[in-house]
Amino acid sequence: MKYDKIIIKTELPGPCAKKLIAIDEKFVSHSYTRDYGMVAKRGEGPFVEDVDGNVFLDFSAGIAVCSTGHCHPRIVNVIQKQAAELIHMSGTDFYYEPQLRLAEKMSQITPIDKASDSNPVMSFFGNSGAEAIEAAIKMARNKRRRPRMMAFIGAFHGRTLGALSLNGSKIRHHEYFHPLVPGVVHAPYAYCKRCPYGANYPGCNLECVDFIKKTLFTKIISPDDISAIIFEAVQGEGGYVVPPVEFVKAMRDLTREHEILLIVDEVQSGMGRTGKMFAIEHFGVKPDIIATAKGIASGMPLSVTCATREVMNWKPGSHASTFGGNPIACAAAVETIDILEKELIANAAKIGEHIKTRLVAMQEKYQFIGDVRGLGLMLAIEIVDNKKSFNPDAALRDKILHMAFAKGLIILGCGPNSLRFAPPLVITREHADMMCDVLESIFKSIVE
Ligand code: PLP
Repeated sequence: MKYDKIIIKTELPGPCAKKLIAIDEKFVSHSYTRDYGMVAKRGEGPFVEDVDGNVFLDFSAGIAVCSTGHCHPRIVNVIQKQAAELIHMSGTDFYYEPQLRLAEKMSQITPIDKASDSNPVMSFFGNSGAEAIEAAIKMARNKRRRPRMMAFIGAFHGRTLGALSLNGSKIRHHEYFHPLVPGVVHAPYAYCKRCPYGANYPGCNLECVDFIKKTLFTKIISPDDISAIIFEAVQGEGGYVVPPVEFVKAMRDLTREHEILLIVDEVQSGMGRTGKMFAIEHFGVKPDIIATAKGIASGMPLSVTCATREVMNWKPGSHASTFGGNPIACAAAVETIDILEKELIANAAKIGEHIKTRLVAMQEKYQFIGDVRGLGLMLAIEIVDNKKSFNPDAALRDKILHMAFAKGLIILGCGPNSLRFAPPLVITREHADMMCDVLESIFKSIVE
């Protein structure tokens, strides 16, 4: 191991970083959202070194992507081997083994409703989370031949126009881009800490589900027009919101009742991050379609949308992508899944529990930590003015992000006022404590 601690030896951003940021400012799209000036040079495990030789502890994993850590030697090895053998051929027109091996593996690990030997889980390959969602939308329309979809407030499914139409987390994602794909209706999500109905879980009788059944489905949209309901088992961009098990089960019952397909977006929550291969497994529900990307190939661009043969019954040419399921990305994914299954899923559950315990202890001490939530290594804290009034404090959240960066800790925000912790799944208890110690030192300085 080259790195084992945070080392900050220049002002931040440092002189080399500043020069590169100036080039970025001039030539790179300003649509990207950079909170601070982290210019990465190399990475190893949960550490990233910047261009000035500063070493950071990375609790963002490239937005929940580097599941096996930065440059895991086994992943580097398969990428190098595959690159020397075959870089591209296009699985849309030809066959190659890495893609088939990955499809076979996805079929074994993906919890899809009514899957069997005669109705196996099949895979469609793309390059990004948004593409996984586009495939899911088209798959559902093709199967159900119904024009409409239902999604949730707080949802984030990507930035291509189809995926964007399903989003409900930020106006910035939508403004000036209309008209979007028509026919989407949004329902409030089960964000119990800020229940849109002012109710208190568990004594609420799931008013959010009642609203869908008794109001949306009788006054706004006919369930017979809906091809699919799509949701994130744990809302990501929306604030790492974990819904109650009953809410997710109710979505399954509702979709069965009306022959609507249930799509689970596991782009961020999948591939071991929550301490199970897929977050939906925490809820005892099997959807009809699962969309995955981010952590699946340890940083190689890849997405996989899975459904049974019966659901994915489209005709040749109806959907495809030249680069989707590239040999290198697929080889990296097969290796990633093996590492996840053998070590990292269990590690995510164990270390996640440890971090959560420490965050809860901090919540008891600090008035501005309104909520600690999440599963495995998909954790967040919500920053508020104080626990009683529970008003979101986005400015303080942003200040904490910057203070963390200054202390060599890379974290990102999510939702309007939350901090997310999405480290590589390789972190040890020592890395977890290192992160918690930095965080606590920031919290202390805020109240001093
Ligand atoms: N779905 C979810 C749940 C996501 O978190 C994201 C990205 O953050 C996407 C879809 C879109 O993924 P991508 O940015 O790879 O298109």
